[in-house]
Amino acid sequence: MNAVKSYDPEKISVATLASHTALQILLAAHKHGFRTIALSAEVNMPFYKSFSFIDEVWPVTPSSLDKMDSELISRNAVIIPHGSMVEYFGPSITRLRTPIFGNRHLIDWERNQESKMKLLREAGIPTPRTYSSPTEASVPAIVKLYGAKGGRGYFLARNREELALKCSTLTEPYIIQEYVIGVPAYYHYFSSKMRGRIEIFGADIRYETNVDGRIPGLADPTFVVVGNLPLTLRESLLPKILKYGEAFAEAVERNIPPGLIGPYCLESIIRDDMEIVVFEYSGRIVAGTNVYAALGSPYSALYFGKPIDMGERIALEIEEAAAGNRLEDVTT
Ligand code: AMP
Repeated sequence: MNAVKSYDPEKISVATLASHTALQILLAAHKHGFRTIALSAEVNMPFYKSFSFIDEVWPVTPSSLDKMDSELISRNAVIIPHGSMVEYFGPSITRLRTPIFGNRHLIDWERNQESKMKLLREAGIPTPRTYSSPTEASVPAIVKLYGAKGGRGYFLARNREELALKCSTLTEPYIIQEYVIGVPAYYHYFSSKMRGRIEIFGADIRYETNVDGRIPGLADPTFVVVGNLPLTLRESLLPKILKYGEAFAEAVERNIPPGLIGPYCLESIIRDDMEIVVFEYSGRIVAGTNVYAALGSPYSALYFGKPIDMGERIALEIEEAAAGNRLEDVTT
């Protein structure tokens, strides 16, 4: 049973791990009248305590999260999952009884690179070719370890010898993908159960050490993310990007009930023939939405008449769900 059934809709708290997009999530939650809880690593507690919009800062470690379940439920807390929470806390988030804003089953699904790609293909979205062994792969290829974090754990192979050699040293599971030539572009969407629609919210690109750094020929490309930059898309691309966002939401609906709830992202390379090839998705808020934190994204104004950020979009959905006694529709 979803614990949210026992919640007082007028006394909801919003909780998240103090990292990633926590500041925009909690600032907006506070603005919308929710109590805010930051679950923080001990070392970062003074930083998060210094902001008045965060009502409580609780110390947490990956092994202590389970023990906070009852306390979180007693505060009528809804957890907002984000990338760092999924990476560092892994399956312990989806085991919690505390309601999670979004679809917790999608978080589990995301952990397996192969099932991940299957979902995109089923949505009819162009994806890079995937190979099961170095011998059948075309080059250039990108190799991704299952447990890769923040771009760490990926490598590129320019020719077959390099691919065979590098793969032979791997001990963890990995997938080999066609390396698509073009520019990266990441699209932020929001699936609203309250308003029954998919919204295109914004886009970003990542700022990655040894691909964006000043390293001409000096180092192998690596994809370690240090930040994000806002991206304004050619308007002529927007209809297709929204169509892919909707197709993806439909594929999730068919495969992983109750479907997409809240923020998600499709991560793509746009080729020079303007074909969009999606190599990855995130079924929760991405750090790239921080580029619009506090300012609001240009596309959000198309729906709300004023720019809002993703934290605020989440708070608005929870507010509308609470007001309509529909918190069950936005949490799992
Ligand atoms: P990710 O952590 O999955 O977002 O990927 C890190 C970076 O690897 C992205 O920003 C892309 O630049 C690059 N990348 C991942 N997969 C591909 C691919 N199939 N083709 C080209 N570049 C890719």
